[in-house]
Amino acid sequence: MKITDLKVDLINITYTHTMSSATSKASGTTKCIVRLGTDEGIVGLGEAPGGAETHEEILRAYEAVRGHDPFRIEALVERLPGPHRGLYGPTPTAMSAVEMAVWDIMGKAVGRPVCDLLGGRYRAAVPVCAPLFTDEGAEADFASATVAAAEAAIARWGFGAVKVKAGVYRPGTELGALRALRRQFGDGLALRVDPNGVWSPEESIRFGQRALDLDLEWMEDPTWGIEGMQRVRAAVPIPLATNMCVRNFDEVPVAFRARAVDVILGDHRIWGGIWPTRKLAALCEGMNVGFGLHSSHELGIATAARLHLAAATAHLSYPIDVTHWFHADDVIEGGPLPIRDGAIAVPTGPGLGVEIDPEALERGAARCRRDGPYMTTFTHPSRYRWWV
Ligand code: MG
Repeated sequence: MKITDLKVDLINITYTHTMSSATSKASGTTKCIVRLGTDEGIVGLGEAPGGAETHEEILRAYEAVRGHDPFRIEALVERLPGPHRGLYGPTPTAMSAVEMAVWDIMGKAVGRPVCDLLGGRYRAAVPVCAPLFTDEGAEADFASATVAAAEAAIARWGFGAVKVKAGVYRPGTELGALRALRRQFGDGLALRVDPNGVWSPEESIRFGQRALDLDLEWMEDPTWGIEGMQRVRAAVPIPLATNMCVRNFDEVPVAFRARAVDVILGDHRIWGGIWPTRKLAALCEGMNVGFGLHSSHELGIATAARLHLAAATAHLSYPIDVTHWFHADDVIEGGPLPIRDGAIAVPTGPGLGVEIDPEALERGAARCRRDGPYMTTFTHPSRYRWWV
């Protein structure tokens, strides 16, 4: 079998509320939806965030694998050398969209779900965590707004873990929101905080020391860089997780040696595909370092890819972030993958186990034609450093 053609559609999906964090602000997301064809008529699906630039990069990634046998995944990934390895090539984001479609092709070719090709179904459903993004209310209302948002999400979807996106207000205000969540929901709810690296090491240490009684699952990227994380971790007995200071294989041993991180959050979009992310999980397992999955606001295709990866990875031992519960639409048949009792069932059909809904695809494409790609504003205007 050979990879022989590619079709990419740009679509817009709106959010049900504005998503604000320390470093970004967005009311929707633009995705490239990939359909990768073969000479045997099997079409694989992929998805990546981004508009025209991502589209261009996906075309470059496709050129590198055109004519390639989808089943030679190791060789195929090697044909996609990227900037994360100090080489010229398409971005990991673009690579991941094509590589995801290759896994879908393989699964469809053999009539098995992708998780069966990654080690088999270790778990049938994957627990998920709700990141709570601030919605720019008054700072004094942040704790009550956070509790209200968590109450609504937990009542509807049964989340057993929530993450407060922080770094927008003063650290003490955000600590107050975590304290209010613990008071409201008791010990059964897993709590995380993620200011996207905007606190200084000293602020992070102070925050962590004041948060010791809250039994946080982790602090995620409280401060920037492996050195900064190392300083925080040495001073605070709370696990540190990252999707920001370890983003390529070169940084893994550095962070391990520095004892800077307890949990690495993989993401096929950051690591260049499912296969490299699976290798990252094995590294973490071998070093007895935690492994979880970061979310890049996936729609149904990429969510299915993450579910298969999570299903086949015993070492993944934390609920994975998902955000599609505040997306107003999706692109797959049946709409967004349902969250029940804080978990999502792993699709059981061949390949990724999801298919494009042509009407939903057209709705998203029409929004993109009408509005142009949705832009995420980076560096949130109320990031607290700007006015303190
Ligand atoms: Mg994060």
